[in-house]
Amino acid sequence: MFFVAPDRPVIALTLRHDRIDYFWFTLLHEIGHLVRDFGDDVEGFFDDLDSSEGSDPREFGADTFAQDALIPSADWEKSPLRTSPNPAYVRDLAARLGIHPAVVAGRVRRERNSYRILSTLVGHGKVRGLSAGPTPSGRDLCRPSRNAL
Ligand SMILES: [Zn+2]
Repeated sequence: MFFVAPDRPVIALTLRHDRIDYFWFTLLHEIGHLVRDFGDDVEGFFDDLDSSEGSDPREFGADTFAQDALIPSADWEKSPLRTSPNPAYVRDLAARLGIHPAVVAGRVRRERNSYRILSTLVGHGKVRGLSAGPTPSGRDLCRPSRNAL
């Protein structure tokens, strides 16, 4: 996220990780910087979310913003996914929240720091093609196609 003018922020995503969960988390993380850090003499954030081991509280805040915006903490706290990474629970919570199952699967993987589980649900290879196709549509980023479930 950077500014082309003091009141004109730009969010640019590299799509390095071609996954639906990563797309949404990264986008909401950057929006979190806008919401939380705008006006603090911020010139921009050039994030590498793969190496978020730093201690910058603004990064932690943007992560928390993204996490709660995608799955409200009250819903997460009640979910059996906190203790059992069951694909059926992923689909149930996604359906209840009206979001793509990839977002829920990504949260489970992040919380458990286990990126081998639920790998068929995070939407590998589903993002880059949407921005390069002749009729790009974000619809598939929000709801899974019938074949994805
Ligand atoms: Zn950041």
